[in-house]
Amino acid sequence: TDKSNFIKTLTPGLDKILGGGLPLGKISELCGAAGVGKTQVCMQLCVNVQIPEVFGGLGAKAIYIDTEGSFMSNRVVEIFNATGNLLKQNFNLNNRNELIKHNFTIDKILSNIFYYRCVDHVQLLACFNNIKILMEKHPQIKLVVIDSLAYPFRFVDFKDSNSMTMKTNILNNIMSISYELINKYNIAILVTNQMTTRITRDVMSNLSSSNLVPALGETWAHSANLRILLSWKNSKRQASVCKSSYLPDTSIFYKITERGFED
Ligand code: ATP
Ligand code: MG
Repeated sequence: TDKSNFIKTLTPGLDKILGGGLPLGKISELCGAAGVGKTQVCMQLCVNVQIPEVFGGLGAKAIYIDTEGSFMSNRVVEIFNATGNLLKQNFNLNNRNELIKHNFTIDKILSNIFYYRCVDHVQLLACFNNIKILMEKHPQIKLVVIDSLAYPFRFVDFKDSNSMTMKTNILNNIMSISYELINKYNIAILVTNQMTTRITRDVMSNLSSSNLVPALGETWAHSANLRILLSWKNSKRQASVCKSSYLPDTSIFYKITERGFED
């Protein structure tokens, strides 16, 4: 496979289960319960996408659509420092001069993340129309993060069929803009999603049981090409790739440290 078709995470295990990194030209869904590390991974990828080409990266830019207000620039600074150290190590650099020479500096990293804050579904839709224009001006953008897609719809009344139709229409609209951008610019789209409880009725035993499923339902689930599931069991964090049309279902253990996602 062509290395330039991925955003390498520099986390060997994660790159491996992803088949090389976060794929360009696809919508990937990152799901998991609160606190598993979805936002950390999103911020990390905004740094990873900017790794200069001489160091095997894309030297690209990112858009971050923050619907929950959880993006933290000081975390990006920490993750940037860790990424710089990894590059120094991997490429046997004595100091950071080589990184600076190729514009891998914190001020460049922060200014190449186009940040949007959206609090509701109307702002989210406006934002998507806006990034179409932004991408025309900045074709170097290779990553669009939406953290998260479900949260802006929290005010939608599920009992009201009009508001449910509106929700479906807005989601469809967002998806069609996403595919338009993917086809035009070969970007990676990364969407985070929470888990919600679904009550299922076991026909055989006649008992009700509940299980955790990604929010937003089936229509949306079919739009994503790849699902990365983060879970946390017995103080161990596990990342799994599932539902991919081109990768086997596999898992790895990971940690969240000051340096970000590590395996
Ligand atoms: P939510 O669904 O609530 O948005 P999330 O999946 O986005 O949750 P994150 O905010 O990405 O979760 O991750 C939170 C986790 O990251 C916490 O376990 C926290 O301890 C860990 N974390 C955050 N910053 C650091 C740091 N500097 N050092 C170590 N761990 C950190
Ligand atoms: Mg989060």
